[in-house]
Amino acid sequence: MSVDTDNQTPDTGHLRTQELIRFDKVTKRFGDNTVLDGLDFRVEPGKHVTLIGPSGSGKTTILRLLMTLAKPDEGTITVAGERLFPAEEKQIREVRKKIGMVFQQFNLFPNMKVLRNITEAPVTVLGLSRDEAEERARELLDLVGLADKCDAYPGQLSGGQQQRVAIARALAMRPRVLLLDEVTSALDPELVAGVLDVLRDIARTTDITMLCVTHEMNFARDISDQVLMFDSGHVIEAGPPERMFGDPEHERTREFLSAVL
Ligand code: ADP
Repeated sequence: MSVDTDNQTPDTGHLRTQELIRFDKVTKRFGDNTVLDGLDFRVEPGKHVTLIGPSGSGKTTILRLLMTLAKPDEGTITVAGERLFPAEEKQIREVRKKIGMVFQQFNLFPNMKVLRNITEAPVTVLGLSRDEAEERARELLDLVGLADKCDAYPGQLSGGQQQRVAIARALAMRPRVLLLDEVTSALDPELVAGVLDVLRDIARTTDITMLCVTHEMNFARDISDQVLMFDSGHVIEAGPPERMFGDPEHERTREFLSAVL
């Protein structure tokens, strides 16, 4: 979480550092509510970082800023050395392609079969041929344990299966970063484990960077390289999961974990 502002080339906004995600002094307000207040935040490539903390502490806002679903009021956001904010529309579109997100609600296209749900964006946005996109989609369906569901419609699948299709759909765009926002919150309890197992596999077998907001603390403990505890838009404590869950230093972290564990 160190701040090093000297390694930036002011003209281009390009960075010499290795960080995949970098927030510098990012402030986000909703009306009078300052949700993030000069946040500095870094994620290194290939790392799995989990954001924990009470509801309303700004975790989802960070993911939404990265998805450009919201814009900061101040500060800069850089992804893989390229500016996401502030930047021209064309650059934002390019940088956005490096980021995939899975939401609480899976939002699959109900009128398209599973395979088509996954191939649509790679064909229309990345310009892949339909054959290439289908080959990749079948590999991804295999990865999420749904190789036999290519021809199903979303409405014929369980919530857990739909979420696994949504994960495959995000990965089909070959993002550098996968953002996961409470991906199991809308699921019936018995379907949660299957989705988390798929994500554990992805974390273990790919080099994708993950930034995850979750209340599933066992999952966070398993997959995270780093856990960040948020309170009122600030990181109040950060560290490897063993220490964060085993021996948290901050009183707020202890309180939060004792309430959720
Ligand atoms: P968390 O993910 O930690 O629960 P959020 O990032 O969702 O927190 O929300 C942080 C704060 O920002 C909350 O007070 C929430 O009410 C507010 N907020 C988030 N999105 C909006 C919005 N679109 N309009 C107004 N307030 C918002």
